[in-house]
Amino acid sequence: MEREVRVRFAPSPTGPLHIGGVRTALYNYLLARKLGGKMLLRIEDTDQNRFVPGAEDYIRQSLEWCGIELDESPWNGGPHAPYRQSERKPMYMQYAQQLIDSGHAYYAFDTPEELDAMRARLTAAKVPNPQYNSITRAQMRNSLTLPAEEVKQLLESGEQYVIRLKVPRKEEVRFNDLIRGWVVVHSSSIDDKVLMKSDGMPTYHLANIVDDHLMEITHVIRGEEWLPSAPLHVLLYRYLGWESTMPQFAHLPLLLKPDGTGKLSKRDGDRLGFPVFPLEWHGKDAETGEPTVSSGYRESGYLPDAFINFLAFLGWNPGSQQELFTMEELIEAFSIERVSKSPARFDQNKVRWYNEQYLRAKPDSELAQYLLEALQAQGLEVPAGKAEQIAALVKERATFPADLAKEAQLFFVRPTAYDEQVISKKWNTQVAGALAEFARELPAATDASPDAIKALLTQVLERQGIKIGQVLQALRVAVTGAAAGPDLMHIMSILGTQETAERIEMAISQLPA
Ligand code: GLU
Repeated sequence: MEREVRVRFAPSPTGPLHIGGVRTALYNYLLARKLGGKMLLRIEDTDQNRFVPGAEDYIRQSLEWCGIELDESPWNGGPHAPYRQSERKPMYMQYAQQLIDSGHAYYAFDTPEELDAMRARLTAAKVPNPQYNSITRAQMRNSLTLPAEEVKQLLESGEQYVIRLKVPRKEEVRFNDLIRGWVVVHSSSIDDKVLMKSDGMPTYHLANIVDDHLMEITHVIRGEEWLPSAPLHVLLYRYLGWESTMPQFAHLPLLLKPDGTGKLSKRDGDRLGFPVFPLEWHGKDAETGEPTVSSGYRESGYLPDAFINFLAFLGWNPGSQQELFTMEELIEAFSIERVSKSPARFDQNKVRWYNEQYLRAKPDSELAQYLLEALQAQGLEVPAGKAEQIAALVKERATFPADLAKEAQLFFVRPTAYDEQVISKKWNTQVAGALAEFARELPAATDASPDAIKALLTQVLERQGIKIGQVLQALRVAVTGAAAGPDLMHIMSILGTQETAERIEMAISQLPA
């Protein structure tokens, strides 16, 4: 029987979720929805030292903002609850015990000092990669080297110990990654990883495999940084007797900095001027403890749909020219086979481009609402009906909702300065004279539509024997102060004939012809 597709996003609450993490969640979600399966979220909080308060809530809010829905999670439960590893603590020991009983794991009693001494010894002997493994374990204090009686005593006396996986010395470990194809690793390069820590908590490796098995996960989709751990995970599945239901692995390509020089890190964002987090994060400086704020896509004015569309394309493409995809369309188009092996370079212009597309595609009534709120917060009165007209006009120049209000200022604030370049080139007695006549005739116009205003201007200019090209820029500067902006006829139409005329007269009185 075909198993139901079940995928999981398994973040550790060690800080804000990086956009790479959001992409991992997204690809899991897309696959689950595409294949009619389930998407679950598990909090991997076995490392108590790295626990950061607020991080779990941040993860939850981020996914909500992005529209990534969870079928099972710590917050909405599910058939495999609990979904926080710290709450599953009592479940793991039996599997470590099973591995010990079958000879695939062992107790190790080495103190931190003994481990340091081992590493120092190996480094001095020029061993390139000093580790606790099939060779070095023979010189350490563990249940493979100590007499059984002593091991029993140590355990009974409450001596601190860890449980390590007994990795075979010479064996090829192989698995078929859905993105990378066959991955083959020699067991000599894998160390005897700790499975249970001395505090009775499992490590990431053990907890992750046990939970993926118990939660019936069919596909593990995660970042490339976990690829080196995968062979160890394969060994764990094998030794626990779960190989036949082992999930399929898919390791996603790295996200690189915009210039392609290495991994996009949590620190890059604010340094390079773009957010690396979905939401703003209030944290603490690791060294000084001072409060820090890292910018977020949400607070920077990105729309969640645009952000998601952009992220989907960081490492995946639909194989067509289409770039704009709603979540539903992404689900339809997504396939793991089209995820790239090669790293994806973060492109800040592209994410802005996406935002522009999504912003401009919104109904003008919705944009008008943003605009009204921003302008009212500034204390500006917006005449009824004007906001929608203004939004429709300025949206082509906006990347973020806040740009709408910036671009709209010209409708509420008369120019306080005039673009000097345009004035020096285009302003002269003839132009000023023609504009003066235009301003005189404007208030009497019965039709203030852009077309009617244009027709009036053309008439005046014909009478004066001037071509429209000679005055347009000067007129724009007279009305708005600036050399560039939205369509001038529309601006004048929205301003109204009276206000436009007054602005032209004001410019004429202030500018030497
Ligand atoms: N807890 C791991 C992380 O924070 C999960 C890795 C995995 O998906 O196996 O990325």
